[in-house]
Amino acid sequence: MSNTDTRDPTSLRTPIVAVLGHVDHGKTSLLDKIRGSAVIEGEAGAITQHIGATAVPLDIISSIAGDLVDPDDFDLPGLLFIDTPGHHSFTTLRSRGGALADIAILVVDVNDGFQPQTLEALDILKRSQTPFIVAANKIDTVPGWNANEDSPINDTYESQSDRVRSRLDESLYEIIGNLSDEEFSADLYWRVQNFQRNVGVVPVSAMTGEGVPDLLTVMMGLSQRYMKEEMEIDVAGPGVGTVLEVKEEKGFGKTIDIVLYDGTIKADDTIVVGGQNDPIVTEVRALLQPRPLAEIRTESRFEKVDEVSAASGIKIAAPELGDAMAGAPVRVVRDRPLEDVIQEVRAELADIAVDTAEEGVVVKADTLGSLEAMADALDEAEVPIVRAEVGDVAPRDISVASTAEDPKQQAILGFNVDVLSDAKQRAEIEDVTLFTDEVIYQLIEEYEDHIEAIEREQQD
Ligand code: GDP
Repeated sequence: MSNTDTRDPTSLRTPIVAVLGHVDHGKTSLLDKIRGSAVIEGEAGAITQHIGATAVPLDIISSIAGDLVDPDDFDLPGLLFIDTPGHHSFTTLRSRGGALADIAILVVDVNDGFQPQTLEALDILKRSQTPFIVAANKIDTVPGWNANEDSPINDTYESQSDRVRSRLDESLYEIIGNLSDEEFSADLYWRVQNFQRNVGVVPVSAMTGEGVPDLLTVMMGLSQRYMKEEMEIDVAGPGVGTVLEVKEEKGFGKTIDIVLYDGTIKADDTIVVGGQNDPIVTEVRALLQPRPLAEIRTESRFEKVDEVSAASGIKIAAPELGDAMAGAPVRVVRDRPLEDVIQEVRAELADIAVDTAEEGVVVKADTLGSLEAMADALDEAEVPIVRAEVGDVAPRDISVASTAEDPKQQAILGFNVDVLSDAKQRAEIEDVTLFTDEVIYQLIEEYEDHIEAIEREQQD
C-alpha cells in the first residue's frame, strides 16, 4: 500500500496561544476563566484537555463571544492555549521556523503596570516576533469602572484604557506592525482601544469574566487574518514539535510533554529529540493523553492513543529521554533518511547554542529559550560564561565553577531551576556561590552586587 494515497490534503491547524506576564498579574486566573467559560458554554467535553494545553474550538469561542464571532467567517478550527503560563520554552524557537506559540497574550495588572517580568516578556515577544495582545487585567478593581455601561461612548472605559496605554513603553508600539483595526467592527474597535497604534489592549477581568469574549474575539480575528497561511499544514506529514517539559512518570520512566505544531505523530514512530549533548534517536513507546477527571481515581492518569495531529499537546514515553531538554525540537522520522532528520535537529540546536568562553560563570536555566535569554542578558552585562546548560544545578556544575581562578567566577547563576541537595552541600565545601531567581534582571543584579562586594574586599 502506498502511503501517498492516504495523505490528507493540506489543512488548517489551530493557532497556539501562550500567556505571559508578571507574577500575580493574573495569567493563571485568565486561563482558568477561559477554560471555565468554555465549559459553561459547551458543557463538559466541549474543550479538549491536552497535555500542557487546552483546545477551545471555534463554535465554543463563538458562543462565548456572542454575535462578535460568526463561525461562518472563520476557517481556523479554534485556539490551543498552553497551560503553563509564562512558559519560557517558546521564546527563541519561533524565528527559526518552529513555533511553540503563534500568538501571545501579555497580561498586565492595571493597578501594577509594567513590572520586570512584563518587560522580560516583551523582550521575548520582540525577539521571537510573536504577535500579541495586551490583556489589561483586574479592571473590576478599578474604582469607577462601569462594567454594565452599554453606551459606546463610555468615558470611564476610555480614560481607564488611556491609563493602561500610558504605561506602554515606546518599544511596544514597534513590535506588531501587522495588526490593524480594519477588520473589526466599530463596536469592537470601541472595545479594543489601541488598534490604531498596532497594539491591541483589551481590558479584562479574569475574576468576573468581563472582556474575555472580546479577548477571544480579537485573538480569533487576528489569527484568521494574519496567520491563516502559517496554519496550513500537511496533517499526515511527519510530526514536528517542541518539548515543553521533561518529566519522570510512574510506570513510564522519563517522558517528554510536547506541543506538536506540524504533522502527525504515531505510537510506533521513530523520533529525534534535542538532547544535552547530541540529538536523541528513540522509538515512541506510548503516546499519552490525560484521562477525564472522573477516571483518575480508578485508572492510571493517562490514556494511550495511536496518533495525534497538530496542533496538540501530548506526552511521549520513550527510552533514552534522560537528556532531553525543554525548548528543544522533536521531529518524527518518516519518509526521510534518519540522518537528514538528525542533521536538522542538530542544526536547530546549534542555532540556539550559547557562546562560551575559556573562563566565566556557570549558567543553568529551565528551558533552551530562557538559557538563550540569560546568555543575551549576561553578554550585555559583560559577564563571560564558561558553561550554559538546561537543567537543575547539579554537583558537576559545582566542579566546573570551583575550578575558576577568579573568585568572581566561582559562581552559578540558575534561572527558574532548583539546586539538587548534593550540589548545595558541595557548593559550600568548594566555596562556590549560588544565585537562583525567576527574574533574569534580578538574578544578574544579585550577581553584580556579589562582584562589587568581592571587589571592595580586595581593595581593603
Ligand atoms: P499569575 O501569577 O499571573 O498566574 O496570577 P494569578 O492568576 O495567580 O493571580 C494572582 C492573584 O490575583 C490571585 O489572588 C487572583 O485571584 C487575583 N486576580 C487575578 N485576576 C484578577 C482579576 O481580574 N480581578 C481581581 N480582583 N483579582 C484577580
